[in-house]
Amino acid sequence: MSPVQRPLRLSQSMLTTLRDDPADAETPGHRLLVRAGYVRRSSAGVWTWLPLGKKVLDNVARVVREEMDAIGGQEVLLPALLPREPYEASGRWTEYGDLLFRLRDRKGAEYLLGPTHEEVFTLTAKDQCASYKDLPVTLYQIQTKYRDEARPRSGVLRGREFLMKDAYSFDLDDEGLAESYRRHREAYLRIFERLGLDHRVVSAVSGAMGGSASEEFLAPAAAGEDTFADCPRCDYAANTEAVTTVAEAADPAAHGPLEELDTPDTPTIDTLAAHLDVPASAVLKNVLVKIDGEIVAIGVPGDREVDLGRIAERLAPAEVELVTADDFASHPDLVRGYVGPQKLPVPYWADPRVAPGTAWITGANRPGTHARNVVCGRDFTVDRYLDAVVVEPGDPCPRCGTGLRLGRAFEIGHIFQLGRKYTDVFGFDVLGPEGKPVRVTMGCYGIGVSRAVAALAEQTHDAHGLCWPREIAPADVHIVVAGKAVQAELADALTARLSAAGVRVLLDDRAGVSAGVKFADAELIGVPALLTVGRGAPDGRVELKDRRTGEREELSVDAAVERIL
Ligand code: ATP
Ligand code: MG
Ligand code: MG
Ligand code: MG
Repeated sequence: MSPVQRPLRLSQSMLTTLRDDPADAETPGHRLLVRAGYVRRSSAGVWTWLPLGKKVLDNVARVVREEMDAIGGQEVLLPALLPREPYEASGRWTEYGDLLFRLRDRKGAEYLLGPTHEEVFTLTAKDQCASYKDLPVTLYQIQTKYRDEARPRSGVLRGREFLMKDAYSFDLDDEGLAESYRRHREAYLRIFERLGLDHRVVSAVSGAMGGSASEEFLAPAAAGEDTFADCPRCDYAANTEAVTTVAEAADPAAHGPLEELDTPDTPTIDTLAAHLDVPASAVLKNVLVKIDGEIVAIGVPGDREVDLGRIAERLAPAEVELVTADDFASHPDLVRGYVGPQKLPVPYWADPRVAPGTAWITGANRPGTHARNVVCGRDFTVDRYLDAVVVEPGDPCPRCGTGLRLGRAFEIGHIFQLGRKYTDVFGFDVLGPEGKPVRVTMGCYGIGVSRAVAALAEQTHDAHGLCWPREIAPADVHIVVAGKAVQAELADALTARLSAAGVRVLLDDRAGVSAGVKFADAELIGVPALLTVGRGAPDGRVELKDRRTGEREELSVDAAVERIL
């Protein structure tokens, strides 16, 4: 336990709790974070962390920092304000499309607010490391990221400004990278364990990052945006975004030349629906994707523009049927086709088994492009296939045959073996042991620090409020003064004693607030131990309640202190 702590006295603190749910709150955890006075909305997807929220956020950051340091990570802080050039060089200035916040300085030079930092970390390491003796190296930062998400939702779960821990490993060879990846994976498991987050590791699609091996860490929660499958018997788990196919190039000669058509705007579900002459409701929400009548993916669009494109992109070139979850009715004319000419970022999930056609390329990565006659093997190549097709509950587990379960979750972490994608772009070589230059290989590893707070709130709340694990909670114990002078005096003495012993105390010593309101606020705030100094105070007795189990005990002051330490 750390040395003397300063207690948090509510009589001297800024804290406003709300009786009622905020109108715009979509998930239970988010509602409670707002009601309990942890966060306040500033603008769409941009949040202020109030005193209690800042403590929890700092606690998560501390755990992440300790575990990153433990695997030899070196903390740095790169700018959030970045010049265009490196992102131009990697192609992401274009590829990220509307997701980027772009701005100009007074001289007209173009900048962006960093959505993720592969480019600038590569340049930083290139600047600092010249010889194989300088490797391996892992750099990380805990920093504010900016993404103009099409649909920021659920409070800090999906912000447009959010806190991420991003780490980057640099190694001399593939074995080195595999080892760095393994160490990060282990560190992530320790982090989520310490945070008290229920989590699953699943194989993942790699999105705009590119590269090869990649896993996601998911936090199961009813309000989750991702769908994953897991096996109740063995440890198999996969994101349903991951799709199995067999790579087999289509015959390029059988198709017409590649045509690229410009569309005036980024197609949305509405424009797509209009084009296909179907109601927009037919393409919304939970979209099942079928190939040849077989369901191969479930898309749960977090935002309307991006996901339809992602689904088409992932499965193309393929005859794709999009069906609403409501009736699973078939709309055979909805989308037929394939996407992904080589000039555009290559889709990893192309399925060349099915005849090509036409599809929309949409979303943040491909603004306003609509391509026709794209042929696998000619217009693009397939980098890799992921190894799971999981769609319906009860489908057999690929490993042990047991019926799979489907669940909802939030992505809280993501690790990639990037390989040489960025070191190639920036020509990052070091002098090898044989005196020849060696191209460095790279991994990247992200954790949503602010999202982890929200995911914890989603997982641990109950009907009365939040319910933090001790390591993350804004305090170790919440003392409620329920009474007058005797109670106040005893509570003060207890607070002094606990604080001196290194316990983080939140003391509700507000005057003119009823005990009932104080109890309700205590449950809402969710500190794990609740100590009431009430009727028993004259006899030196207090009540200790476990916030999570609801168990109460009347104890002497000494016994209560003992219990809390
Ligand atoms: P998502 O699929 O939820 O959009 P992502 O795959 O785009 O996330 P990454 O690029 O992998 O996110 O970033 C690493 C981590 O940053 C994610 O695992 C997630 O925890 C967090 N994160 C990403 N976007 C946001 C956001 N808008 N708000 C809060 N946290 C985010
Ligand atoms: Mg995203
Ligand atoms: Mg993701
Ligand atoms: Mg990700």
